[in-house]
Amino acid sequence: MKIGTGASPGIAFGKALVIKNEELVIEKKSVENIEEEKNRFEKAVEESKAQLLNIKEKAAKELDEGKSAIFDAHIMILEDPELISSTLNKIESEGVNAEYAFKEIIEQFIAIFEAMDNEYMRERASDLRDVSGRVFRNLMGIKVIDLSVLDEEVILVADDLTPSETVNMDKEKVLGFLTNIGGRTSHTAIMARTLEIPAVVGLKDITEVLKEGDIVAFNGETGEVIINPSEEEMNHYKELKNKHEKEKKELQNLKGKPSITKDGYKVEIVGNIGTPNDIEGLIKNDTEGVGLYRTEFIYMDRDTLPTEEEQFEAYKKVLQAMNPKPVVIRTLDIGGDKEVSYLNIDKEMNPFLGYRAIRLCLDKAEIFKVQLRALLRASIYGNLKIMFPMISSLEELLEAKKILEEAKRELDNEGVKYASNIEVGMMIEVPSAAIISDILAKEVDFFSIGTNDLIQYTTAVDRMNQKIRHLYNPFNPAVIRLIKMVIDNGHKEGIWVGMCGEMAGDKRMIPILLGLGLDEFSMSPISILPARKLIRSLNSKEMKKLSDEILKMNTAEEIEKFIENYFK
Ligand code: PEP
Ligand code: MG
Repeated sequence: MKIGTGASPGIAFGKALVIKNEELVIEKKSVENIEEEKNRFEKAVEESKAQLLNIKEKAAKELDEGKSAIFDAHIMILEDPELISSTLNKIESEGVNAEYAFKEIIEQFIAIFEAMDNEYMRERASDLRDVSGRVFRNLMGIKVIDLSVLDEEVILVADDLTPSETVNMDKEKVLGFLTNIGGRTSHTAIMARTLEIPAVVGLKDITEVLKEGDIVAFNGETGEVIINPSEEEMNHYKELKNKHEKEKKELQNLKGKPSITKDGYKVEIVGNIGTPNDIEGLIKNDTEGVGLYRTEFIYMDRDTLPTEEEQFEAYKKVLQAMNPKPVVIRTLDIGGDKEVSYLNIDKEMNPFLGYRAIRLCLDKAEIFKVQLRALLRASIYGNLKIMFPMISSLEELLEAKKILEEAKRELDNEGVKYASNIEVGMMIEVPSAAIISDILAKEVDFFSIGTNDLIQYTTAVDRMNQKIRHLYNPFNPAVIRLIKMVIDNGHKEGIWVGMCGEMAGDKRMIPILLGLGLDEFSMSPISILPARKLIRSLNSKEMKKLSDEILKMNTAEEIEKFIENYFK
């Protein structure tokens, strides 16, 4: 048995599909039969085109236009007569293998694109790289795994899954995820919970241990993974799965009931989403609204920036589906573990401490303003609240608000309508913001505490680093004190305080947060009904006493043990 971090609850068993991103080694060889070699190349190109067409059709059905357009661009590259004929000529004139000839030619093309002045043309180099990888694999007989068109049900096993891989994958066929890296708050984990797909992350070497076709069974809650289980073990997992499904069914009785404590203290339990499609999961789980819409996914997995119109449509869809319930939409939070390749951002030593989120938006105000205009225009379709991520000073907050005002003035001049009562809030995820939350509270309508980042920045523990996973602890007294400070400062200024980090859905933390006075809990859709069940079983005055006790404690361990014993 292997143990990782349980990242998304549920039991899964099935055939493993191991995804390895190994480097392709291309050697120069001389060939005897030139015609055969040329045919081999042409066949690989045709095969690649057919695969891309297949994915494109699927993407067009399930994703938006912008995303399926990428595949058109890739097919066009393979139809470039110069690229194809230059490769064929090279095979013929030098008597070399197709892989080598194609590599030499594609590298020349890439170099030409990379040297261009025009940023758009420079970005085409990464498309060329992408497409050539597919042609090389087809030439070398290496299976090209397209997660968007899977033939059978599988458990995906990978080093990590990028958000773009998870966006495009065939969700019906994926029974679960297992990854080498990541923790509960890494994006693979968050995505798995949103999609309600069981997952265990941080298994270190699972891609090495599992072979293609191995059967694997795992528990997404405890993090236990069994490779090629015995019949007895398999029966145990089947039983566990039945039990889990039964509990899920029982939770359905809570639909339509308020999230209120036994003594009548009402809180709001809302959900986190990454794309408009995630709304379905939220509605199914009877959400009271959206507490965090991570808009960065609109910008990812494509070649160019999304237009104002595309963004407007996405925001409108979410606002309309939720109306009149509140929808907190967070402005672009790129960087850290979320990359946008076409922005050509330099690699950084410490990406989580670097050029990310609001820092990038204030630097590239032209990009930021497009998003703000789209948000404002969409505001008339529902109950919109705009939220800025990663604010670390008052200056940043004021600057972001100033650009929002500029966007409003532009729309006023164009005679375009937007709602007059849009609340503007900010995330508290940097310790400096928590420490000056008394100052910041005067400038916003709400705070939402982003504990995924707040924990990593407060304790200097990278949320992605396996080696120090034991140090990334929501029970750390420093983190709990900061949360108290933010809630108290917010309430002193009369604003509401929510939390959209993963801690808000953690059943061990909910009683403490309730005691500290948190107003809104935003979490993965699957955590909503269990959280409501828990809140309805608690007494708010008792939880106030419990949190007062906890604030006197010295270590995370002490707090964790106290909570465990309290609820035994
Ligand atoms: C957080 O940091 O807690 C948060 C909600 O933002 P993200 O996980 O997207 O960084
Ligand atoms: Mg964050």
